Amino acid sequence: MEIKVTRAQTDRTRPQDSDLGFGQVFTDHMFVMDYSEDKGWHDPQIVPYADFSVSPAAMVFHYGQAIFEGLKAYKTVDNTIQLFRAGDNFARMNRSAKGMCIPELDINFVMDAMKQLIKIEEKWIPETLGTSLYIRPTIIATDPFIGVRASFTYKFYIILSSVGAYYAEGLNPVKIWVSKDHVRAVKGGVGEFKTAGNYAASLIASEKAKKDGYAQVLWLDAIERKYIEEVGAMNIFFLVDDEILTPNLTGSILPGITRYSVITLAKKWGMKISERKITIDEIFKAHDKGRLKEVFGSGTAAVISPVGEIRYGDKVISIGDGTPGKTAMKFYNKLTDIQYGNTKDSENWIEVIN
Ligand SMILES: *Cc1c(COP(=O)(O)O)cnc(C)c1O
Repeated sequence: MEIKVTRAQTDRTRPQDSDLGFGQVFTDHMFVMDYSEDKGWHDPQIVPYADFSVSPAAMVFHYGQAIFEGLKAYKTVDNTIQLFRAGDNFARMNRSAKGMCIPELDINFVMDAMKQLIKIEEKWIPETLGTSLYIRPTIIATDPFIGVRASFTYKFYIILSSVGAYYAEGLNPVKIWVSKDHVRAVKGGVGEFKTAGNYAASLIASEKAKKDGYAQVLWLDAIERKYIEEVGAMNIFFLVDDEILTPNLTGSILPGITRYSVITLAKKWGMKISERKITIDEIFKAHDKGRLKEVFGSGTAAVISPVGEIRYGDKVISIGDGTPGKTAMKFYNKLTDIQYGNTKDSENWIEVIN
């Protein structure tokens, strides 16, 4: 399939790196492609970034058939553009597609389309350490139809956003709030897919957490309400004595690519690491005995996010001394060094866009 390119007639300039924020500045172009039963995925195009028209009856608005991905392109010191494990994002997108009855993509084709789009938008990739070009591939159900079934037509698109460092003031530990009344996902449901509805379902708890002054929600399993699952848009790690713990993937947890990367590095470095069921009580007890050394989240947006406080009902624990822990920093530094090309990519995670 040939990608038709229509150039935007604009000469917008990228804001200063320090003014970018996150997910607010969109670039001049986007990639779009449609799906129908008879043609499959067809009509791939790079077009000026603009609103597009879909019916108010489009099924995505009513029944939530929507999936997305989040990854980044980085500018290195020698001015090359790099992607980090991008193939894994599209493999996950296809798993999400299957889970939500959406037709799968040809991964090589969409990867090439994405690279072509990024090259056109090179001037939008910021250069300061911590900044990047955030990439948001999305698929929505477009049949204009009221009635519940899988849509017959879809739109796939990729938009790009110049983003600043996720934590503008550096890696300050965040406070997280354990949800007792609400759950994010249940085994057998869609928690392991990156589908829009998971976020819609999470909002009420996040709003309550925010009201109490907490940045993110820590989710427990939906059935026994005692096993730790993940945080907002991040997976979670605990350093107890000298062992790193993270919940094993049970079907209701999003399999984060940053999570896999942390686990791989930890093993490589000879650290003790276990993927297993972890109860919230176990973590609070470890804290009471002085054994809980660090807590941190992992996700593409923030890379590593140290946690400085956890609230569970009336109980509040503080972790660390208000600065990021050594282990969290070790992962953060290694991952960002690989992403920004400041160290050898010993894991083969990087792809350079030429
Ligand atoms: C995307 C996401 C993550 C993190 O995944 P990464 O691939 O590491 O960015 C974690 N949890 C949820 C719910 C997510 O949507």
